[in-house]
Amino acid sequence: MSWFDHWQPDQQLDSAAQLQPEALRARGIRGIIFDLDSTLAPWGFTRPPPGLPGFLDRLEHQGFSLAFLSNHSGWGREGLRESLGGRPLIFGARKPRPTGFLRLLELMGLPARQVAVVGDQLFTDIWGAKRLGLWAILVPSLALAAEPWPMRPRRLLERVVLRLLDRFCP
Ligand SMILES: [Mg+2]
Repeated sequence: MSWFDHWQPDQQLDSAAQLQPEALRARGIRGIIFDLDSTLAPWGFTRPPPGLPGFLDRLEHQGFSLAFLSNHSGWGREGLRESLGGRPLIFGARKPRPTGFLRLLELMGLPARQVAVVGDQLFTDIWGAKRLGLWAILVPSLALAAEPWPMRPRRLLERVVLRLLDRFCP
């Protein structure tokens, strides 16, 4: 595996809402780990947007185990765990480190190859997923404008890497 392979998403969607449950199931996926910020709602959200709980319930009824993995400290977001249905949620995950992913796999009782990760960041969500053999789905940031300014150079670098991947590893 070359370095670039670690950053090559297995799939790219326009948003988390575009997830295709049948296609995921056909691939053997039984669990989904979601990033929170800019993936499910704008950065730093403290309440899920109106459509989100129903979307998550539907996925669960379709047979997927769900969990959330965030690099945010969780400070000021104490109510989020409950409003996301009390499903496993880890803050301060330090993605792309494996610890948080591995903990959630253990909680879900699923092997890495049966779990997808949905996230908006190449160097945390996608890298973390790929190094463990999870199915890595990249979505664009839901609201770039809501992100704190230190994210900007990282976004620029992501665009460069995605373009290189497109060109040299199609
Ligand atoms: Mg994110």
